[in-house]
Amino acid sequence: MPADFERRPAGPLPMARNVPTAERKERIFRSEEELAQLPVSERIRWRLVAADARWHANDNIADFVREGELEELKAEVQAKMHEVLRALVIDTDSDHNTNETAKRVAKMYVEEVFRGRYQPMPAVTEFPNVERLNELMIVGPITVRSACSHHMCPIFGRVWIGILPNEHSNLIGLSKYARIADWVMSRPQIQEEAVTMLANELQQRVRPDGLAIVMEADHFCMHWRGVKDTDTAMVNSVMRGAFLKDANLRREFLSLLSRKNAP
Ligand SMILES: [Zn+2]
Repeated sequence: MPADFERRPAGPLPMARNVPTAERKERIFRSEEELAQLPVSERIRWRLVAADARWHANDNIADFVREGELEELKAEVQAKMHEVLRALVIDTDSDHNTNETAKRVAKMYVEEVFRGRYQPMPAVTEFPNVERLNELMIVGPITVRSACSHHMCPIFGRVWIGILPNEHSNLIGLSKYARIADWVMSRPQIQEEAVTMLANELQQRVRPDGLAIVMEADHFCMHWRGVKDTDTAMVNSVMRGAFLKDANLRREFLSLLSRKNAP
């Protein structure tokens, strides 16, 4: 495999998911000196494979990106995006509208709409629940923007979060819920997985007795292409802990949410 690695640095990774982990790591581990010769996206992929980490569209891979590499990544995406425009038979040389499109799209992906993949989680200060708050708390609607993993089409939506804290819960500032939601959503996502990911992040930090999340979103792959349905919105929810066990609590959350939702 090492010889193979030298010969085709631009080829697909020697995926060895069936090989035992220890053996796989031995085969795929490369020093940073060796990785330095590769295009940045491959360098990052080798690190991910060596760590046996997942790099699906909605995974955060910030731990595997070194300082300065995002600039390189943007340049690489720009070059590939230029090829996509060429493949679409768009004359990016003469067409002044598309001259800079590859550059703009690369910047938009890496720095804006998919930054939740490349940037570490925003800093969130947690406070002990000194007041021992144990009442249902609702945050929302939080406006969220994402893109679907299937078509890379925009998703615009709203998220409501219900928290039932206990005396051991950590409380976080209200604005932090929006920042964590934005971080999770700024990746190519699937709505069902997005709400679960958001729930996991909040569960880990806040450790409430109950956690409920509802997301309602417009999927532009339904409006812009496909059935071109303009009215369909998708609603997803995650209920955990007390919200699962206690129907009254669930009802209270949903009724407060629908009242907030009223025009
Ligand atoms: Zn889609």
